[in-house]
Amino acid sequence: MTRLGLGLTLAGLLLLGSPAVAETTATVAPAEPLAKPAAGTIQVLDRDASGRPLLARVALVHGLPDFAESRMTLGGTWSYLIRDGDGVLVLDVGPRFPLAWSLVPWASWKVLTPKLDGNAHILKAVETVYPGCPITTIVMTHWHADHTEDAPALQRLAFERWGVRPPLRMTAADRPHRWRGLFPIGAEATFSAAGFHRSEWTWGLDLREGERLGKTGFRVLCLPGHTAGNIALVDPDRRISLGPTPRIEPPRESLWAEDMETYRATALRFYHATFGYRHFSTHPGREATETWPGAPESEKVPVSGHEFHGHACD
Ligand SMILES: [Zn+2]
Ligand SMILES: [Zn+2]
Repeated sequence: MTRLGLGLTLAGLLLLGSPAVAETTATVAPAEPLAKPAAGTIQVLDRDASGRPLLARVALVHGLPDFAESRMTLGGTWSYLIRDGDGVLVLDVGPRFPLAWSLVPWASWKVLTPKLDGNAHILKAVETVYPGCPITTIVMTHWHADHTEDAPALQRLAFERWGVRPPLRMTAADRPHRWRGLFPIGAEATFSAAGFHRSEWTWGLDLREGERLGKTGFRVLCLPGHTAGNIALVDPDRRISLGPTPRIEPPRESLWAEDMETYRATALRFYHATFGYRHFSTHPGREATETWPGAPESEKVPVSGHEFHGHACD
C-alpha cells in the first residue's frame, strides 16, 4: 500500500464496477479456508527429518482493508522465517504505522503517531522457533509499505540483540524507483517517509534472478508487474513457493500494479514455474482460495509467446 495507491484507489473506486469478467478456477493449492490470524500467530510450515523447523511464519495484523484487490488480505501480512544454516532469513517486514499513516508521504506528520509492533512479533517468533539463531538477512518481496516499512528498525533491533547487522536485500528496481519516471517511490522513499534517516538502514547486495539465498534452499524468482522488482522465493527441491499466490488468470485490472501487461505475463510464468508446489502467500487471505475473477478464455496469454529475461528485475 502506498500513497500512489491512494490516488489509484480513488480513481479505481470511480472506475470499477462489479467485475465484468468470467470467473475461472485454477487448482494450484488446496482450497483451505483460513480464519483471520491473530497478530503474532506463529505457524511452522516445514521441518527437516529430525524435526527441526526449516520454515515458519508469523502473522502481522495491521488493519489492511479487505477491499478491491486486497479483498483477501485478512487484514495483514505474513513475515516468513527461514532457517539459513545457524541463522534465520526473514522475508518481509510489516508496516511501521497503521495503513492510513503509511500513505502519508511526510514523515513529520507521524511524530506522534503510535507505531505498530510487528518487529516485536517477528523477534519473538524467531526466538520461539529458532532459539539462539540470529537474523542473518532481511529480504523483501517488493517495496510496498505493508512488506517493508519497518525494516530499518528490525535491522537495528537485530544488531542490538545479536551484534550482527543483517543486510536488507531486495531487487535494485524496487529500492530507489520513480513512478512513470516522475515522483520517487520504492523502498528508500518508503523508509524516508516513515521517518528513518538515510543512515539508519544498510543495504546488502541486490537480489538477482535465480540467486540461491544462503543455505535456505530458496532461490529468487523475479516477477515484475505488481512492482518493477517484485519477487517470489522458490525451492524446487522441496517444491515450496513464498510470495504472491499463483493464478492462471490474474485480474484484468489491478489498482496496485505498476505494469499490468507484465503483471499478467509474470503471473502466468509463476503459475507454470511452480505448478504443484505448496504455495505460501505474503497475505494471509490469499491462500484461502484459488478462484479469482480473470480474463475470458479467449484472452489467455499464451505462455510460450513470452520471453522472460534472465534479469527481469535488475
Ligand atoms: Zn504490494
Ligand atoms: Zn501487500
